[in-house]
Amino acid sequence: MNPDAPRRIALFGGTFDPIHLGHLELATRAREALALDEVRFLPCHTSPHKPGVTSAPPADRLEMVRLATRGLPWATADDFDLVAPPPAYSYRTAEAMARRFPAAKLFWIMGADQWRALPEWKEPERLAELVEFIVAARDGAPEPRPGWRMHPLAGCHPASATAIRRELAAGRGADGWLDPAVAEHISRHRLYIA
Ligand code: ATP
Repeated sequence: MNPDAPRRIALFGGTFDPIHLGHLELATRAREALALDEVRFLPCHTSPHKPGVTSAPPADRLEMVRLATRGLPWATADDFDLVAPPPAYSYRTAEAMARRFPAAKLFWIMGADQWRALPEWKEPERLAELVEFIVAARDGAPEPRPGWRMHPLAGCHPASATAIRRELAAGRGADGWLDPAVAEHISRHRLYIA
């Protein structure tokens, strides 16, 4: 390994409501495929576009990210998007990370659903100038978009935070989709109970 090579840091934004095994597998596969030094999980405020289901408070979502990544030396739970003045637009997060890590090469991890929605994000071109996207298949593979740097990831994972919240609200378990420490945190704090 070249010690002078720039650190390869991937930003992984999401609501993580809750973080599940799909998120963790996506981060792990991205790290392996792109030889990442670090994946920074950045929980954001819950989106007003996702109504109808109980959401966990930001402090719990951050704590669950911490719990799920505690055994992964390459993973960091970063509260930047939770403490920054809203709205936490992704291009602003990327600009802040580019200032914080000026020598690093930055990536942004997402699922294909978000990749498809990306043109509607605030100032997506500014984000695309700063990062290379790493995109996992989700309801289909990601289509390349001319001019944007994108690495498709092989494989897909069926976990869905919405489905997990629904199961929990209905009083059914969702432990099979969750890191055990996250399942324990949800049960202890009675999160997602309607
Ligand atoms: P919901 O099911 O409520 O939409 P989500 O897990 O998609 O939840 P986020 O926590 O915001 O929502 O997801 C963070 C990122 O992880 C998004 O880019 C999303 O596309 C991606 N992602 C989440 N689950 C998967 C999955 N099973 N496979 C691929 N990508 C995923």
